[in-house]
Amino acid sequence: MPKTYDPTNIFARILRGEIPNKTVLETPHSLAFHDINPLAPVHVLVIPKGAYVDFDDFARNATDAEIVDFNRACAKVCEVTGCSPGEGYRAITNAGAHGMQEVPHYHLHILGGRVLGRMIARAD
Ligand code: AMP
Repeated sequence: MPKTYDPTNIFARILRGEIPNKTVLETPHSLAFHDINPLAPVHVLVIPKGAYVDFDDFARNATDAEIVDFNRACAKVCEVTGCSPGEGYRAITNAGAHGMQEVPHYHLHILGGRVLGRMIARAD
C-alpha cells in the first residue's frame, strides 16, 4: 500500500518557494537548508525535491538518479559544514508515529559541531 503524500506539508511549501529557507546547497534533485530550531551548532536538513513521505518511501520509489543525487548532497553538506573531514556528525531520519516524524516529507537531519551524546535514550 503506497503512502499518501500530503502536498501541503511545510517542506513541500519550501520547495514551491511559498516560504523562505536558509539554503545550504541545492542540486538537481535535492535541497539542503538550516533547521529552523537547531539542536546543535550544525543542524541541516536534506530533502529530496520529489514527493516522498519518509526514508523507506524514498528508498523504494525514488529513481536511481534521485538517490545518488540525495546521497551526494548529504556528503557535500558534511563537507561544507566542516563535519567531515572534521570531528564528525550524526545523520538521523524520523519516520511515522514511533519515529515521531513531524514533517511528512522525507528529510535527513545532519547534526554536528558538538559531542551529541548517546544515540537514543533507553526505555527502561
Ligand atoms: P522531524 O521531527 O524529523 O519531522 O523534524 C522536522 C524538523 O523540521 C524539525 O527539526 C523542525 O525544527 C524543522 N522545521 C520545521 N519547519 C521548518 C522550517 N520552516 N524551516 C526549517 N526547518 C523546519
